[in-house]
Amino acid sequence: MTAERIDGKAFAASLRERVGEHAAQFEASAGRKAGLAVVLVGEDPASQVYVRSKHKATVAAGMESFEHRLPADTSEEDLLALVDRLNADEAVDGILVQLPLPDHLDEQAVIASISPDKDVDGFHVTNAGRLAVGQSGFVPCTPLGCMMLLTERLGDLSGLEAVVIGRSNIVGKPMAQLLLDANATVTIAHSRTKDLPSVVKRADIVVAAVGRAEMVKADWLKDGATVIDVGINRLPPTDGEEKGRLVGDVDYAGAKSVAGAITPVPGGVGPMTIAVLLRNTLVAAYRNADLQVPDGL
Ligand code: NDP
Repeated sequence: MTAERIDGKAFAASLRERVGEHAAQFEASAGRKAGLAVVLVGEDPASQVYVRSKHKATVAAGMESFEHRLPADTSEEDLLALVDRLNADEAVDGILVQLPLPDHLDEQAVIASISPDKDVDGFHVTNAGRLAVGQSGFVPCTPLGCMMLLTERLGDLSGLEAVVIGRSNIVGKPMAQLLLDANATVTIAHSRTKDLPSVVKRADIVVAAVGRAEMVKADWLKDGATVIDVGINRLPPTDGEEKGRLVGDVDYAGAKSVAGAITPVPGGVGPMTIAVLLRNTLVAAYRNADLQVPDGL
């Protein structure tokens, strides 16, 4: 058997197109564009790349992008004052502070200062709480993107066994909550889990969010399992390579002969993250403008 390749890149492109259509309708109804403010502190090269691609994607979707680049030695007081201004700014529907922040800044304090109704990353404790108790709020972009790929492939997840490997606040825990809400039977595995291969073996759905290159092996998987690989790991370069290859947390080459469907790395979960950020921003805009969020967003 060769697993179906779950094409996150194509799914993300169609989601972005849908967001673009609704963004134009929003502008027509509200008399303004939906707006996303992105705050970058310092010059971390990876963060600069992410912020640039978020800016381009926001503009391409017909939304306003407000970029705030602050020096690495910005004080917490100044950063909190900027977030306050963005919270009060009616042109700003979503606020994203790019992580990681320089060491002298308290990430939790900064996230806590963002209005939960503009927290399109879904990292604020209010949104984590809303997800936990089943209220509508904002769900972190990566797990929500994984969920969209899963429901597109499997439809109803009721009663399916799901194993999430990883328990971070931004991926593993919200992923498990979403699967539970969809009536899957959920196990969360982590670094202290005993006999991980046999835990994974019972799963109809495996979500790997660990950060260890190709850790999940083919013989851990149940025949026909649907595998969502969140990991992004760069292997050391081999001869002739300038940079090493990007791989996920799952041994893709082996797993595709056992799984029913699997996301590749790159081109699987990665492209979904920005697409869902745009979607969350537009949802925030509809809510902030007291307009009905359209179905299918
Ligand atoms: P974290 O480092 O915050 O969490 C990793 C989790 O994996 C922890 O819960 C840890 O367990 C668990 N873990 C570590 N080693 C093992 C092991 N040997 N066996 C079982 N579990 C283990 O990572 P994130 O959740 O932030 O990210 C996970 C991966 O996803 C990374 O590769 C990251 O780059 C990628 N990522 C990709 C995104 C995308 O857009 N595609 C977005 C976000 C992340 P414990 O809690 O016990 O330490």
